[in-house]
Amino acid sequence: MAAGADTWVWLATAGAGATAGMALVGAWWAWRRRRAAVPDESLLDTEGPTTEVSVRPARDPLTGLQTRASFEDVLDYACQEAQAPGGAFALLYIGLDGMRSVNDLQGHAGGDAVLSATGQRLLALTSDDACARIASDEFVVLVTGDAEAARRAARRVVEALCQPLRLGAQQLRLTASVGVVCYPEHGTRPQLLQRAATAMRSVKLAGGGSWAEYHLNMTESVREKLELARELQHAIDKRQLQLVYQPKVDARSQQITAAEALLRWNHPVKGVVSPDVFIPVAERHGLIGAIGDWVLDEAIRQAAQWRDKGLRMRVAINVSGYQMRQDDFVERLARGLAHHGLRAERFTCEITETLAMEDTAVTQRAFARLGEIGAHVSIDDFGTGHSSLAALRRLPAAELKIDSAFVTDLATSADARTIVQAVVQMAHTLELRVVAEGVETGEQRDLLVAMGCDELQGFFFAKPMSAAELELWAIYDDGPRDMQFRDSLFSETTPATLQ
Ligand code: C2E
Ligand code: MG
Ligand code: MG
Repeated sequence: MAAGADTWVWLATAGAGATAGMALVGAWWAWRRRRAAVPDESLLDTEGPTTEVSVRPARDPLTGLQTRASFEDVLDYACQEAQAPGGAFALLYIGLDGMRSVNDLQGHAGGDAVLSATGQRLLALTSDDACARIASDEFVVLVTGDAEAARRAARRVVEALCQPLRLGAQQLRLTASVGVVCYPEHGTRPQLLQRAATAMRSVKLAGGGSWAEYHLNMTESVREKLELARELQHAIDKRQLQLVYQPKVDARSQQITAAEALLRWNHPVKGVVSPDVFIPVAERHGLIGAIGDWVLDEAIRQAAQWRDKGLRMRVAINVSGYQMRQDDFVERLARGLAHHGLRAERFTCEITETLAMEDTAVTQRAFARLGEIGAHVSIDDFGTGHSSLAALRRLPAAELKIDSAFVTDLATSADARTIVQAVVQMAHTLELRVVAEGVETGEQRDLLVAMGCDELQGFFFAKPMSAAELELWAIYDDGPRDMQFRDSLFSETTPATLQ
Protein backbone atom coordinates (compact mmCIF):
# COMPACT_ATOMS: atom_id res chain seq x y z
CA MET A 1 0.00 0.00 0.00
CA ALA A 2 1.44 3.34 -1.01
CA ALA A 3 -0.45 5.59 1.36
CA GLY A 4 2.77 7.34 2.38
CA ALA A 5 2.63 10.17 4.86
CA ASP A 6 -0.91 11.18 3.89
CA THR A 7 -3.62 8.99 5.30
CA TRP A 8 -5.68 9.47 2.18
CA VAL A 9 -6.61 5.84 1.97
CA TRP A 10 -10.04 5.38 3.39
CA LEU A 11 -11.15 2.02 4.69
CA ALA A 12 -7.56 0.79 4.52
CA THR A 13 -7.41 -2.93 5.08
CA ALA A 14 -3.71 -3.50 5.63
CA GLY A 15 -0.37 -1.84 6.03
CA ALA A 16 1.22 0.75 8.23
CA GLY A 17 -0.93 3.66 9.33
CA ALA A 18 -4.12 1.75 8.68
CA THR A 19 -5.41 1.82 12.24
CA ALA A 20 -7.95 4.58 11.70
CA GLY A 21 -9.00 2.96 8.45
CA MET A 22 -9.44 -0.42 10.16
CA ALA A 23 -11.90 1.08 12.62
CA LEU A 24 -13.83 2.51 9.73
CA VAL A 25 -13.82 -0.82 7.94
CA GLY A 26 -15.36 -2.52 10.97
CA ALA A 27 -18.01 0.16 11.32
CA TRP A 28 -18.79 0.01 7.65
CA TRP A 29 -19.20 -3.77 7.65
CA ALA A 30 -21.57 -3.55 10.60
CA TRP A 31 -23.54 -0.86 8.84
CA ARG A 32 -23.77 -2.92 5.67
CA ARG A 33 -25.05 -5.91 7.65
CA ARG A 34 -27.71 -3.76 9.26
CA ARG A 35 -28.80 -2.51 5.87
CA ALA A 36 -28.85 -5.95 4.28
CA ALA A 37 -32.13 -6.97 5.92
CA VAL A 38 -32.94 -9.03 2.85
CA PRO A 39 -29.50 -10.06 1.65
CA ASP A 40 -28.88 -9.73 -2.04
CA GLU A 41 -27.65 -13.03 -3.56
CA SER A 42 -24.62 -11.39 -5.06
CA LEU A 43 -23.60 -9.94 -1.72
CA LEU A 44 -23.86 -13.18 0.26
CA ASP A 45 -20.70 -14.84 1.43
CA THR A 46 -21.65 -18.48 1.97
CA GLU A 47 -18.14 -19.66 2.84
CA GLY A 48 -17.10 -20.52 6.40
CA PRO A 49 -18.96 -21.88 9.40
CA THR A 50 -20.29 -18.56 10.65
CA THR A 51 -24.02 -18.31 11.04
CA GLU A 52 -24.00 -14.54 10.74
CA VAL A 53 -24.83 -13.20 7.30
CA SER A 54 -21.59 -11.73 6.03
CA VAL A 55 -21.94 -9.17 3.26
CA ARG A 56 -19.34 -8.68 0.55
CA PRO A 57 -19.51 -5.84 -1.91
CA ALA A 58 -20.26 -6.87 -5.48
CA ARG A 59 -17.14 -6.96 -7.65
CA ASP A 60 -16.48 -5.99 -11.21
CA PRO A 61 -15.26 -9.23 -12.83
CA LEU A 62 -12.61 -7.54 -15.00
CA THR A 63 -10.81 -5.45 -12.39
CA GLY A 64 -11.94 -7.04 -9.14
CA LEU A 65 -12.91 -3.57 -7.92
CA GLN A 66 -16.27 -2.65 -6.47
CA THR A 67 -19.17 -1.91 -8.78
CA ARG A 68 -21.06 1.34 -8.94
CA ALA A 69 -23.92 -0.12 -6.89
CA SER A 70 -21.75 -1.19 -3.99
CA PHE A 71 -19.77 2.04 -4.10
CA GLU A 72 -23.00 3.99 -3.70
CA ASP A 73 -23.31 2.27 -0.30
CA VAL A 74 -19.77 3.31 0.59
CA LEU A 75 -20.63 6.88 -0.31
CA ASP A 76 -23.80 6.81 1.81
CA TYR A 77 -21.77 5.65 4.74
CA ALA A 78 -19.00 8.21 4.17
CA CYS A 79 -21.57 11.01 4.12
CA GLN A 80 -23.03 9.75 7.36
CA GLU A 81 -19.57 9.60 8.96
CA ALA A 82 -18.71 13.06 7.67
CA GLN A 83 -21.20 14.53 10.15
CA ALA A 84 -18.71 13.68 12.92
CA PRO A 85 -15.59 15.83 13.49
CA GLY A 86 -12.67 14.65 11.32
CA GLY A 87 -14.98 12.75 8.97
CA ALA A 88 -14.20 14.89 5.90
CA PHE A 89 -13.69 13.06 2.65
CA ALA A 90 -13.30 13.66 -1.05
CA LEU A 91 -14.11 11.73 -4.17
CA LEU A 92 -11.75 11.34 -7.13
CA TYR A 93 -13.49 10.57 -10.42
CA ILE A 94 -10.98 9.09 -12.85
CA GLY A 95 -11.43 8.83 -16.61
CA LEU A 96 -8.83 7.14 -18.80
CA ASP A 97 -7.90 9.27 -21.79
CA GLY A 98 -7.72 7.73 -25.24
CA MET A 99 -9.48 4.42 -24.52
CA ARG A 100 -11.37 4.76 -27.78
CA SER A 101 -8.15 4.47 -29.79
CA VAL A 102 -6.86 1.64 -27.57
CA ASN A 103 -10.00 -0.34 -28.39
CA ASP A 104 -9.79 0.63 -32.07
CA LEU A 105 -6.17 -0.36 -32.40
CA GLN A 106 -5.62 -3.12 -29.86
CA GLY A 107 -9.07 -4.68 -29.98
CA HIS A 108 -11.22 -5.32 -26.95
CA ALA A 109 -8.71 -7.75 -25.43
CA GLY A 110 -6.16 -4.90 -25.40
CA GLY A 111 -8.75 -2.55 -23.91
CA ASP A 112 -9.59 -5.09 -21.19
CA ALA A 113 -5.89 -5.49 -20.35
CA VAL A 114 -5.55 -1.71 -19.93
CA LEU A 115 -8.61 -1.53 -17.67
CA SER A 116 -7.44 -4.43 -15.56
CA ALA A 117 -3.95 -2.87 -15.21
CA THR A 118 -5.59 0.41 -14.21
CA GLY A 119 -7.51 -1.42 -11.50
CA GLN A 120 -4.23 -2.89 -10.22
CA ARG A 121 -2.58 0.52 -10.22
CA LEU A 122 -5.41 2.04 -8.21
CA LEU A 123 -5.30 -0.87 -5.79
CA ALA A 124 -1.58 -0.27 -5.30
CA LEU A 125 -2.45 3.25 -4.15
CA THR A 126 -5.53 2.54 -2.09
CA SER A 127 -7.56 -0.30 -0.66
CA ASP A 128 -10.15 -2.22 -2.59
CA ASP A 129 -12.95 -0.88 -0.41
CA ALA A 130 -12.05 2.66 -1.38
CA CYS A 131 -12.19 2.36 -5.13
CA ALA A 132 -14.59 1.16 -7.78
CA ARG A 133 -14.96 0.82 -11.51
CA ILE A 134 -17.99 2.94 -12.11
CA ALA A 135 -18.40 2.86 -15.89
CA SER A 136 -16.52 1.32 -18.82
CA ASP A 137 -13.30 3.36 -18.51
CA GLU A 138 -14.15 5.36 -15.40
CA PHE A 139 -13.11 4.74 -11.82
CA VAL A 140 -13.67 6.41 -8.46
CA VAL A 141 -11.53 6.57 -5.35
CA LEU A 142 -12.62 7.76 -1.93
CA VAL A 143 -10.10 9.77 0.04
CA THR A 144 -10.33 10.62 3.73
CA GLY A 145 -9.14 14.01 4.89
CA ASP A 146 -9.37 17.59 3.75
CA ALA A 147 -9.07 19.21 0.32
CA GLU A 148 -5.28 19.25 0.52
CA ALA A 149 -5.18 15.47 1.05
CA ALA A 150 -7.51 15.11 -1.94
CA ARG A 151 -5.22 17.22 -4.15
CA ARG A 152 -2.18 15.17 -3.16
CA ALA A 153 -4.12 11.98 -3.91
CA ALA A 154 -5.26 13.32 -7.29
CA ARG A 155 -1.66 14.16 -8.24
CA ARG A 156 -0.55 10.65 -7.31
CA VAL A 157 -3.33 9.00 -9.29
CA VAL A 158 -2.53 11.08 -12.40
CA GLU A 159 1.16 10.27 -12.03
CA ALA A 160 0.57 6.54 -11.51
CA LEU A 161 -1.82 6.20 -14.47
CA CYS A 162 0.50 8.12 -16.81
CA GLN A 163 3.27 5.53 -16.41
CA PRO A 164 3.86 3.50 -19.59
CA LEU A 165 1.98 0.22 -19.81
CA ARG A 166 3.35 -2.88 -21.42
CA LEU A 167 0.86 -4.65 -23.67
CA GLY A 168 2.52 -7.70 -25.17
CA ALA A 169 5.50 -6.43 -27.12
CA GLN A 170 4.19 -2.88 -27.12
CA GLN A 171 4.43 -0.01 -24.74
CA LEU A 172 1.35 2.17 -24.33
CA ARG A 173 1.41 5.61 -22.81
CA LEU A 174 -2.07 6.56 -21.65
CA THR A 175 -3.06 9.45 -19.46
CA ALA A 176 -5.93 9.97 -17.05
CA SER A 177 -8.21 12.88 -16.19
CA VAL A 178 -9.23 13.24 -12.58
CA GLY A 179 -12.08 15.32 -11.15
CA VAL A 180 -12.13 16.05 -7.42
CA VAL A 181 -15.12 16.86 -5.21
CA CYS A 182 -14.88 17.46 -1.47
CA TYR A 183 -17.83 16.69 0.77
CA PRO A 184 -19.78 18.74 1.79
CA GLU A 185 -18.18 21.86 0.17
CA HIS A 186 -18.83 20.82 -3.42
CA GLY A 187 -22.34 19.44 -3.20
CA THR A 188 -24.89 17.25 -1.49
CA ARG A 189 -24.79 13.45 -1.53
CA PRO A 190 -26.97 13.12 -4.70
CA GLN A 191 -24.76 15.65 -6.51
CA LEU A 192 -21.38 14.16 -5.61
CA LEU A 193 -20.77 11.64 -8.38
CA GLN A 194 -22.18 13.84 -11.10
CA ARG A 195 -20.11 16.86 -10.08
CA ALA A 196 -16.95 14.78 -9.77
CA ALA A 197 -17.65 13.48 -13.30
CA THR A 198 -18.14 17.04 -14.55
CA ALA A 199 -14.77 18.05 -13.09
CA MET A 200 -13.18 15.01 -14.76
CA ARG A 201 -14.81 15.88 -18.10
CA SER A 202 -13.55 19.45 -17.96
CA VAL A 203 -10.00 18.09 -17.53
CA LYS A 204 -10.53 15.76 -20.48
CA LEU A 205 -11.83 18.57 -22.66
CA ALA A 206 -8.76 20.61 -21.83
CA GLY A 207 -6.54 17.82 -23.13
CA GLY A 208 -6.50 15.32 -20.24
CA GLY A 209 -3.55 14.04 -18.24
CA SER A 210 -4.31 16.21 -15.25
CA TRP A 211 -6.74 16.83 -12.39
CA ALA A 212 -9.11 19.60 -11.31
CA GLU A 213 -11.27 20.42 -8.36
CA TYR A 214 -14.96 21.00 -9.07
CA HIS A 215 -16.30 24.52 -9.29
CA LEU A 216 -19.76 25.67 -10.36
CA ASN A 217 -18.60 27.23 -13.65
CA MET A 218 -17.48 23.79 -14.81
CA THR A 219 -20.99 22.57 -15.40
CA GLU A 220 -21.51 25.48 -17.78
CA SER A 221 -18.16 25.05 -19.54
CA VAL A 222 -18.65 21.30 -20.06
CA ARG A 223 -22.08 22.01 -21.53
CA GLU A 224 -20.53 24.62 -23.85
CA LYS A 225 -17.85 22.20 -25.03
CA LEU A 226 -20.42 19.49 -25.76
CA GLU A 227 -22.37 22.04 -27.75
CA LEU A 228 -19.16 22.99 -29.58
CA ALA A 229 -18.58 19.33 -30.44
CA ARG A 230 -22.09 19.05 -31.88
CA GLU A 231 -21.55 22.13 -34.03
CA LEU A 232 -18.11 21.00 -35.12
CA GLN A 233 -19.67 17.87 -36.51
CA HIS A 234 -21.50 19.96 -39.09
CA ALA A 235 -18.70 22.47 -39.68
CA ILE A 236 -17.13 20.56 -42.55
CA ASP A 237 -20.41 20.15 -44.44
CA LYS A 238 -21.28 23.76 -43.82
CA ARG A 239 -17.86 24.83 -45.17
CA GLN A 240 -16.99 26.62 -41.95
CA LEU A 241 -13.47 25.21 -41.82
CA GLN A 242 -10.67 27.06 -43.55
CA LEU A 243 -6.94 26.70 -43.86
CA VAL A 244 -4.76 29.77 -43.43
CA TYR A 245 -1.08 29.68 -44.26
CA GLN A 246 1.94 31.06 -42.43
CA PRO A 247 5.26 31.26 -44.28
CA LYS A 248 8.56 29.86 -43.08
CA VAL A 249 11.47 31.87 -44.44
CA ASP A 250 15.08 31.01 -45.07
CA ALA A 251 17.08 32.61 -42.23
CA ARG A 252 19.72 34.08 -44.53
CA SER A 253 18.04 34.88 -47.82
CA GLN A 254 14.66 35.50 -46.13
CA GLN A 255 12.92 33.88 -49.06
CA ILE A 256 9.91 31.69 -48.44
CA THR A 257 10.72 28.03 -48.11
CA ALA A 258 7.33 26.77 -46.99
CA ALA A 259 3.82 27.64 -45.90
CA GLU A 260 2.33 25.94 -42.84
CA ALA A 261 -1.40 25.24 -43.09
CA LEU A 262 -3.21 26.22 -39.89
CA LEU A 263 -6.83 25.36 -39.33
CA ARG A 264 -9.49 27.96 -38.59
CA TRP A 265 -13.15 27.49 -37.81
CA ASN A 266 -15.21 30.42 -38.99
CA HIS A 267 -18.14 30.00 -36.66
CA PRO A 268 -21.27 31.89 -37.79
CA VAL A 269 -21.90 33.30 -34.30
CA LYS A 270 -18.68 32.93 -32.32
CA GLY A 271 -16.42 34.22 -35.08
CA VAL A 272 -13.01 32.62 -35.68
CA VAL A 273 -12.44 29.76 -33.22
CA SER A 274 -8.80 28.86 -32.53
CA PRO A 275 -7.56 25.32 -33.22
CA ASP A 276 -6.19 25.28 -29.66
CA VAL A 277 -9.85 25.36 -28.55
CA PHE A 278 -11.53 23.02 -31.00
CA ILE A 279 -8.84 20.44 -31.85
CA PRO A 280 -8.86 18.99 -28.30
CA VAL A 281 -12.69 18.91 -28.48
CA ALA A 282 -12.51 17.19 -31.88
CA GLU A 283 -10.06 14.63 -30.46
CA ARG A 284 -12.30 13.85 -27.48
CA HIS A 285 -15.41 13.45 -29.61
CA GLY A 286 -14.04 11.34 -32.44
CA LEU A 287 -14.25 14.18 -34.97
CA ILE A 288 -10.53 14.63 -35.54
CA GLY A 289 -10.43 11.86 -38.16
CA ALA A 290 -12.85 13.65 -40.53
CA ILE A 291 -11.20 17.02 -39.88
CA GLY A 292 -7.70 15.64 -40.41
CA ASP A 293 -8.76 14.05 -43.71
CA TRP A 294 -10.23 17.36 -44.87
CA VAL A 295 -7.04 19.26 -43.93
CA LEU A 296 -4.89 16.72 -45.76
CA ASP A 297 -6.95 16.81 -48.96
CA GLU A 298 -7.29 20.59 -48.93
CA ALA A 299 -3.58 21.25 -48.27
CA ILE A 300 -2.53 18.85 -51.03
CA ARG A 301 -4.98 20.50 -53.42
CA GLN A 302 -3.58 23.92 -52.51
CA ALA A 303 0.03 22.76 -52.82
CA ALA A 304 -0.71 21.45 -56.31
CA GLN A 305 -2.42 24.70 -57.29
CA TRP A 306 0.57 26.76 -56.13
CA ARG A 307 2.94 24.40 -57.87
CA ASP A 308 0.94 24.88 -61.08
CA LYS A 309 1.22 28.67 -60.66
CA GLY A 310 4.97 28.39 -60.33
CA LEU A 311 5.27 28.98 -56.58
CA ARG A 312 8.04 26.76 -55.38
CA MET A 313 7.57 26.16 -51.70
CA ARG A 314 6.68 23.30 -49.43
CA VAL A 315 3.26 23.08 -47.84
CA ALA A 316 3.13 21.79 -44.27
CA ILE A 317 0.26 20.31 -42.28
CA ASN A 318 -0.01 19.53 -38.58
CA VAL A 319 -0.67 15.85 -38.02
CA SER A 320 -2.69 14.82 -34.98
CA GLY A 321 -2.05 11.79 -32.81
CA TYR A 322 -5.23 10.24 -34.10
CA GLN A 323 -3.98 10.46 -37.70
CA MET A 324 -0.62 8.95 -36.81
CA ARG A 325 -2.42 6.03 -35.20
CA GLN A 326 -4.64 5.48 -38.23
CA ASP A 327 -3.50 2.59 -40.37
CA ASP A 328 -4.23 4.33 -43.62
CA PHE A 329 -3.01 7.88 -42.93
CA VAL A 330 0.26 7.57 -44.86
CA GLU A 331 -1.44 5.68 -47.68
CA ARG A 332 -4.03 8.44 -47.95
CA LEU A 333 -1.23 11.03 -48.08
CA ALA A 334 0.65 9.03 -50.72
CA ARG A 335 -2.52 8.62 -52.81
CA GLY A 336 -3.31 12.35 -52.59
CA LEU A 337 0.22 13.36 -53.60
CA ALA A 338 0.25 10.88 -56.49
CA HIS A 339 -3.16 12.06 -57.65
CA HIS A 340 -1.85 15.63 -57.99
CA GLY A 341 1.60 14.58 -59.20
CA LEU A 342 3.26 16.23 -56.20
CA ARG A 343 6.67 15.08 -54.97
CA ALA A 344 6.42 13.75 -51.41
CA GLU A 345 9.47 15.69 -50.27
CA ARG A 346 7.62 18.92 -51.11
CA PHE A 347 4.99 18.14 -48.51
CA THR A 348 5.77 18.48 -44.80
CA CYS A 349 4.08 16.61 -41.96
CA GLU A 350 4.57 18.50 -38.69
CA ILE A 351 4.35 16.07 -35.81
CA THR A 352 4.74 17.30 -32.24
CA GLU A 353 7.72 16.12 -30.26
CA THR A 354 5.44 14.53 -27.64
CA LEU A 355 3.70 12.47 -30.31
CA ALA A 356 6.97 11.63 -32.05
CA MET A 357 8.35 10.18 -28.82
CA GLU A 358 5.28 8.01 -28.28
CA ASP A 359 6.91 4.66 -28.45
CA THR A 360 4.10 2.60 -29.85
CA ALA A 361 4.35 0.15 -32.69
CA VAL A 362 1.58 1.88 -34.56
CA THR A 363 3.14 5.39 -34.53
CA GLN A 364 6.58 3.96 -35.30
CA ARG A 365 5.05 2.14 -38.28
CA ALA A 366 3.54 5.42 -39.49
CA PHE A 367 6.95 7.10 -39.21
CA ALA A 368 8.61 4.29 -41.10
CA ARG A 369 6.01 4.58 -43.89
CA LEU A 370 6.46 8.37 -44.03
CA GLY A 371 10.19 7.70 -44.45
CA GLU A 372 9.52 5.14 -47.21
CA ILE A 373 7.37 7.48 -49.27
CA GLY A 374 9.96 10.24 -48.77
CA ALA A 375 7.68 12.72 -46.98
CA HIS A 376 9.34 15.68 -45.30
CA VAL A 377 8.84 15.16 -41.54
CA SER A 378 9.16 18.02 -39.08
CA ILE A 379 9.26 17.67 -35.29
CA ASP A 380 7.02 20.48 -34.00
CA ASP A 381 7.10 22.27 -30.62
CA PHE A 382 10.54 20.85 -29.91
CA GLY A 383 11.59 21.37 -26.30
CA THR A 384 8.14 20.78 -24.82
CA GLY A 385 8.38 16.97 -24.70
CA HIS A 386 10.97 14.46 -23.56
CA SER A 387 13.05 13.41 -26.52
CA SER A 388 15.70 10.79 -26.33
CA LEU A 389 18.59 11.28 -28.73
CA ALA A 390 18.40 7.64 -29.76
CA ALA A 391 14.72 8.00 -30.67
CA LEU A 392 15.40 11.25 -32.56
CA ARG A 393 18.11 9.56 -34.60
CA ARG A 394 15.77 6.75 -35.60
CA LEU A 395 13.03 9.06 -36.86
CA PRO A 396 12.94 9.83 -40.58
CA ALA A 397 12.76 13.55 -39.73
CA ALA A 398 14.32 16.33 -41.79
CA GLU A 399 13.38 19.32 -39.69
CA LEU A 400 13.04 20.33 -36.07
CA LYS A 401 10.96 23.31 -34.95
CA ILE A 402 12.12 24.98 -31.76
CA ASP A 403 9.08 25.82 -29.65
CA SER A 404 8.12 29.48 -29.53
CA ALA A 405 8.51 29.56 -25.71
CA PHE A 406 12.30 29.49 -26.13
CA VAL A 407 12.19 32.13 -28.85
CA THR A 408 10.05 34.45 -26.70
CA ASP A 409 12.61 34.29 -23.89
CA LEU A 410 15.69 34.69 -26.10
CA ALA A 411 16.38 38.36 -25.49
CA THR A 412 15.88 38.17 -21.73
CA SER A 413 17.05 34.72 -20.68
CA ALA A 414 20.59 33.37 -20.93
CA ASP A 415 19.14 29.90 -20.28
CA ALA A 416 16.89 30.15 -23.34
CA ARG A 417 19.88 31.22 -25.47
CA THR A 418 21.97 28.31 -24.18
CA ILE A 419 19.15 25.85 -24.88
CA VAL A 420 18.49 27.15 -28.40
CA GLN A 421 22.21 27.09 -29.21
CA ALA A 422 22.50 23.50 -27.93
CA VAL A 423 19.40 22.40 -29.86
CA VAL A 424 20.74 23.92 -33.09
CA GLN A 425 24.07 22.12 -32.67
CA MET A 426 22.43 18.82 -31.76
CA ALA A 427 20.01 19.07 -34.69
CA HIS A 428 22.78 19.86 -37.16
CA THR A 429 24.78 16.87 -35.88
CA LEU A 430 21.73 14.74 -36.67
CA GLU A 431 21.50 16.49 -40.07
CA LEU A 432 18.18 18.12 -39.25
CA ARG A 433 17.30 21.62 -40.39
CA VAL A 434 16.23 23.92 -37.58
CA VAL A 435 13.19 26.18 -37.75
CA ALA A 436 12.50 28.70 -34.97
CA GLU A 437 8.80 29.47 -34.57
CA GLY A 438 7.13 32.45 -32.92
CA VAL A 439 9.71 35.02 -34.07
CA GLU A 440 8.19 38.41 -33.25
CA THR A 441 11.08 40.87 -33.17
CA GLY A 442 14.14 41.86 -35.17
CA GLU A 443 16.27 41.18 -32.11
CA GLN A 444 15.05 37.59 -31.94
CA ARG A 445 15.66 37.17 -35.65
CA ASP A 446 19.23 38.44 -35.35
CA LEU A 447 20.00 36.15 -32.41
CA LEU A 448 18.52 33.12 -34.19
CA VAL A 449 20.43 33.81 -37.39
CA ALA A 450 23.65 34.19 -35.37
CA MET A 451 22.94 30.86 -33.65
CA GLY A 452 22.67 29.11 -36.98
CA CYS A 453 18.92 28.52 -37.30
CA ASP A 454 18.07 27.57 -40.87
CA GLU A 455 14.52 28.86 -41.13
CA LEU A 456 12.34 31.30 -39.22
CA GLN A 457 8.60 31.68 -38.80
CA GLY A 458 6.56 34.18 -36.83
CA PHE A 459 4.57 37.38 -36.79
CA PHE A 460 7.75 39.38 -37.46
CA PHE A 461 7.64 38.00 -41.00
CA ALA A 462 3.97 37.31 -41.49
CA LYS A 463 0.85 36.27 -39.64
CA PRO A 464 -1.13 33.31 -40.98
CA MET A 465 -3.17 34.46 -44.02
CA SER A 466 -5.57 33.06 -46.55
CA ALA A 467 -4.20 31.13 -49.51
CA ALA A 468 -5.23 33.98 -51.83
CA GLU A 469 -3.39 36.55 -49.71
CA LEU A 470 -0.27 34.44 -49.52
CA GLU A 471 -0.31 34.05 -53.26
CA LEU A 472 -0.63 37.80 -53.82
CA TRP A 473 2.11 38.45 -51.34
CA ALA A 474 4.33 35.89 -53.00
CA ILE A 475 3.79 37.12 -56.50
CA TYR A 476 3.58 40.87 -56.06
CA ASP A 477 6.04 42.76 -53.98
CA ASP A 478 3.33 45.31 -53.27
CA GLY A 479 0.79 42.94 -51.69
CA PRO A 480 -2.39 44.31 -50.15
CA ARG A 481 -1.62 47.07 -47.66
CA ASP A 482 -4.27 46.11 -45.16
CA MET A 483 -2.55 42.83 -44.33
CA GLN A 484 -0.82 42.77 -41.00
CA PHE A 485 2.64 41.90 -42.16
CA ARG A 486 5.61 43.64 -43.64
CA ASP A 487 6.44 43.88 -47.32
CA SER A 488 6.99 40.73 -49.30
CA LEU A 489 10.19 39.00 -48.37
CA PHE A 490 10.75 37.50 -51.74
CA SER A 491 10.17 38.17 -55.35
CA GLU A 492 11.11 34.75 -56.45
CA THR A 493 10.46 31.55 -54.59
CA THR A 494 13.23 29.15 -55.41
CA PRO A 495 15.46 29.01 -52.33
CA ALA A 496 18.55 26.86 -52.68
CA THR A 497 17.20 24.11 -50.43
CA LEU A 498 14.35 23.36 -52.81
CA GLN A 499 16.36 23.16 -56.02
P1 C2E B 1 1.71 24.98 -34.16
O1 C2E B 1 1.69 23.99 -35.24
O2 C2E B 1 2.92 25.01 -33.30
O3 C2E B 1 1.46 26.40 -34.85
C1 C2E B 1 2.02 27.60 -34.40
C2 C2E B 1 1.00 28.46 -33.73
O4 C2E B 1 1.63 29.69 -33.32
C3 C2E B 1 -0.12 28.93 -34.67
O5 C2E B 1 -1.26 29.11 -33.85
C4 C2E B 1 0.37 30.27 -35.17
O6 C2E B 1 -0.67 31.13 -35.59
C5 C2E B 1 1.02 30.81 -33.92
N1 C2E B 1 2.10 31.75 -34.23
C6 C2E B 1 2.90 31.78 -35.31
N2 C2E B 1 3.80 32.78 -35.23
C7 C2E B 1 3.58 33.40 -34.05
C8 C2E B 1 4.20 34.51 -33.39
O7 C2E B 1 5.13 35.13 -33.86
N3 C2E B 1 3.70 34.86 -32.16
C9 C2E B 1 2.67 34.17 -31.60
N4 C2E B 1 2.22 34.57 -30.41
N5 C2E B 1 2.06 33.11 -32.19
C10 C2E B 1 2.52 32.74 -33.41
P2 C2E B 1 -2.66 28.51 -34.27
O8 C2E B 1 -2.90 28.67 -35.72
O9 C2E B 1 -3.66 29.03 -33.31
O10 C2E B 1 -2.45 26.95 -34.03
C11 C2E B 1 -2.22 26.42 -32.74
C12 C2E B 1 -1.92 24.96 -32.80
O11 C2E B 1 -3.07 24.24 -33.25
C13 C2E B 1 -0.82 24.60 -33.79
O12 C2E B 1 0.44 24.81 -33.19
C14 C2E B 1 -1.12 23.15 -34.05
O13 C2E B 1 -0.57 22.34 -33.03
C15 C2E B 1 -2.62 23.08 -33.94
N6 C2E B 1 -3.18 23.05 -35.29
C16 C2E B 1 -3.39 24.06 -36.17
N7 C2E B 1 -3.90 23.60 -37.32
C17 C2E B 1 -4.00 22.25 -37.17
C18 C2E B 1 -4.47 21.17 -38.03
O14 C2E B 1 -4.84 21.37 -39.19
N8 C2E B 1 -4.44 19.93 -37.51
C19 C2E B 1 -3.98 19.67 -36.26
N9 C2E B 1 -3.98 18.39 -35.83
N10 C2E B 1 -3.53 20.62 -35.43
C20 C2E B 1 -3.55 21.91 -35.89
MG1 MG C 1 2.98 23.31 -36.54
MG1 MG D 1 4.66 24.60 -33.00
